[in-house]
Amino acid sequence: MKLNTNYQKLEENYLFTEIAKRTSDFIHAHPEAHIIKLGIGDVTVPIASVAADAMIRATEELKHPETFRGYGPELGYFFARQAVQTYYADYGIKIDADEITIGDGIGSDIANITDLFVHGDNGVLIPDPVYPLYKATSLMDGQRIIYLPCTEQNNFLPEPPAVPSDLIYLCSPNNPTGATFTFDRLQAWVDYANRVGAIILYDDAYERFIEEDDKPHSIFAIDGARTCAIEFGSLSKTAGFTCVRSGYTIVPNELVREGMSLKKMWHQRQTTKYNGAPYVTQRGLEAALSAEGLLQADMTIGIYKRNVPLITQTLEEKGIFYCGGANSPYIWLRCPDGMRSWQFFDYLLEKAHVVGTPGVGFGEYGENYFRLSTFNTFENTGEAMQRIAKVI
Ligand code: PLP
Repeated sequence: MKLNTNYQKLEENYLFTEIAKRTSDFIHAHPEAHIIKLGIGDVTVPIASVAADAMIRATEELKHPETFRGYGPELGYFFARQAVQTYYADYGIKIDADEITIGDGIGSDIANITDLFVHGDNGVLIPDPVYPLYKATSLMDGQRIIYLPCTEQNNFLPEPPAVPSDLIYLCSPNNPTGATFTFDRLQAWVDYANRVGAIILYDDAYERFIEEDDKPHSIFAIDGARTCAIEFGSLSKTAGFTCVRSGYTIVPNELVREGMSLKKMWHQRQTTKYNGAPYVTQRGLEAALSAEGLLQADMTIGIYKRNVPLITQTLEEKGIFYCGGANSPYIWLRCPDGMRSWQFFDYLLEKAHVVGTPGVGFGEYGENYFRLSTFNTFENTGEAMQRIAKVI
């Protein structure tokens, strides 16, 4: 037996572990400090009561012999797949319930989908900066990675390259930059993928935050996407389900390579290696995606969005470049005075007792940038920005 030595290529310190370490070291040295965290992208407002109640009812069912359930279908209960189908139908997008699988959040699905692929000749395209999972799983698999620099010059949105590729990770709205594809710019990627035979893995985790009409909520709103794309949707940010763990993956019927249906392969993978998402969380998903659940979810997103102007006004007053916020929970800013990302992290922690996320943790092109999250209360965010304003 040989070990997968690709694991040695992973960075020693995972971004959020390092943030937690530096923060706890600081608290240890300064126990009196009142730290405000605008760092990790975790939700802070409780989940919709309609979803919580549905999960309580589902748990209650399991107590009684007449409503008790054993193993469920590996790919998801029909009621949950149908709830996702209806969610897409409300955006005017037609998806078969059979194309949807229900999982325990998309972190695992995005990583597990790589079981379907071996190494191609052309490599894997990954935007930089971006959510670190794509790079980490590609490294574990020993894939050849080609980074797509996302900079102020291209508004942090990558363009398709002139050369072919095998797999493409896209994240829109992007974590960390908040950059969001317009219909036109996403169409360019779909046309490229269809032309070169590549597959797009589309991370849609933040779509519910989109408020501009020229931005699609799904890659399947784009002509031709059904022959080249797989989409991952999460309830984590849509409905505050980060601890509940629920999400879905959509592999369209038309996605076929070398005569093989990727939907069939994904179903084979899931029915073999996964025993299905919990019944209780699937009832939670169903309720969260109901009309009432979505109303409550949108109110919660509205609470986070109230923090956006608190952050952006300070940055504007200080003449600091920023983007994001309109379609995502994150504000992406250039560190003042040419500071490097970790330097600014330490500076803010020390001088303002505020924790953010160093941009370089999302990739090389994130160096000199910084992410502030709106996942906090109005009061805390206001207080954090007042403190930041005094030191930048
Ligand atoms: N994709 C992106 C872009 C994220 O930012 C996150 C979590 O922060 C995830 C996926 C993970 O989602 P889940 O909680 O469904 O595993």
